[in-house]
Amino acid sequence: MIDQLNEDYARLLEALNEANSSAELDAWYKEALGRKGHITLMTRQVGQLSPEERPAFGRRVNEVKKELEHAYRAQSARVQSAELLATISRDSLDVTLPGRRQWRGRLHPATLTLREIYRIWGDMGFQIYRSRDVETDEYNFELLNIPEDHPARDMWDTFHTTTPGVILRTHTSPGQIHAMREYCPEPIRVILPGMCFRYEQITARSEIQFNQVEGLAVGHSITMADLKGTLVDFAKRMFGEHRKTRFRANYFPFTEPSAEMDVECLLCGGDGCQVCKYTGWLEILGCGMVHPTVLRNGGYDPTVFSGFAFGMGPERIAMLKFGIEDIRNFWANDLRFLKQF
Ligand SMILES: [Zn+2]
Repeated sequence: MIDQLNEDYARLLEALNEANSSAELDAWYKEALGRKGHITLMTRQVGQLSPEERPAFGRRVNEVKKELEHAYRAQSARVQSAELLATISRDSLDVTLPGRRQWRGRLHPATLTLREIYRIWGDMGFQIYRSRDVETDEYNFELLNIPEDHPARDMWDTFHTTTPGVILRTHTSPGQIHAMREYCPEPIRVILPGMCFRYEQITARSEIQFNQVEGLAVGHSITMADLKGTLVDFAKRMFGEHRKTRFRANYFPFTEPSAEMDVECLLCGGDGCQVCKYTGWLEILGCGMVHPTVLRNGGYDPTVFSGFAFGMGPERIAMLKFGIEDIRNFWANDLRFLKQF
């Protein structure tokens, strides 16, 4: 019986080495190791042997089975790689064809600009102070020196909530009062970023929601010179070392004196173009010395403390930097626009 097994083993091994295609291999496997294969059937015969023959035959048939399985796997690997090579040379498979690119998300242009602004002010020692989007009339207007009948209220058309006196903030300036009341009498250096809302006709130049970054510095002996030096430094960090700046007198109810800062046009470098309306200058931010009334409302004695404040629109800055012509693109959620950043 064992002799027969060894003979079969030798014969099957030889046949396996001659199997040179997947089809031949399949046929061989079926004949040798399949459910009704030669070796499988011999394994089942162990039970019919006499008790003396059984252990030796059982051991040998298992050995043969293992060795044939091992040899089959090795031969399969050889045949498969040979077949793959044959396919490649026959079909001239183009392995240089690029794969499909993964779709990756990216940051919104407003977020990119905000982050750059945060980084610059962070380097200059200003902390981010978060303030609420929903405000009371008192914080949004009154405490900022804009009383009920003040003509300056016409500058901001407001969204009102169903709760009387509670509105969506029209600017980030109410955050100045929150920051001052929290830190008083410590000195302050903060920026206050966030979304603002105004009830306006939506056009290419104006939106009903937009980001603002407010800045506030309060301390002893802070002067207009500190304001100018700080903002000029910011403009150089934001728009380039050699970018020229200028200040123009302006009016805001919560600062006195007040100014607007322009930078040399980013597109024409001051020569004049459509974007700067041929002036060579772009308006970047509003600023001024914190009004004594506002300081007092924040808890600071204006005879002891002074400070400056400024506010800028990141979307407006992004429009100038990236040459975006329509502010409505920012919140239209059109991927054709957003994918460009
Ligand atoms: Zn220009």
